[in-house]
Amino acid sequence: MEARAQWHACRAKARCARGPRQVTGADIVRISRTLALEPWHFTETAPAIADDPTGIVLDKGRRRVFLKIANATNGCVFSIRTPSGARGCGLGDLAPVSCRIFPADTKDGAPAIRREPGCDCREWTLEDLDQEAVTEALRTWSADRDHWFEVVERWNALASESAEELGIEDFQRYLLEAESARETGAGWPEEATA
Ligand code: SF4
Repeated sequence: MEARAQWHACRAKARCARGPRQVTGADIVRISRTLALEPWHFTETAPAIADDPTGIVLDKGRRRVFLKIANATNGCVFSIRTPSGARGCGLGDLAPVSCRIFPADTKDGAPAIRREPGCDCREWTLEDLDQEAVTEALRTWSADRDHWFEVVERWNALASESAEELGIEDFQRYLLEAESARETGAGWPEEATA
């Protein structure tokens, strides 16, 4: 069985049951555009710790949250179960990079194996990885993560100074604009309106 299919078939693992924690703005925008769904229809928030670089400031600084793919009753909203009982990811190649590179870790540097919490069906090894594809995906992941950190940092500066009560949908509109600007090489959204 192909590695990703085996991962989905594992009943014990936690990731698809809880939703991926390591999503970036680029993941969210890609899914949003392809499915023609606003990001708030498939994401949810959870409280962020104080030094989390993905901690988004909302409601005039009263809340700090991080974004993740939303959960349904049986886990990630994109986790599907076929009539035969087999599980799969409904996103396929659209899935967050951190999901697609499994069983590689998202750490910078040479590809390494990530231990999947709860999975005890197989001991994953480096031989399970397509080293070239994973190295390329990790490069994408690092660039997306660094941009994601900057999007959140810039938003937090704007939200802290704003007189308005800005919520998560406002942040996600800002994210969509920032990602479009990144692709076209334009400046940040706040620079365009300054
Ligand atoms: S996006 Fe797909 S692979 Fe990632 S947690 Fe959800 S169902 Fe699993």
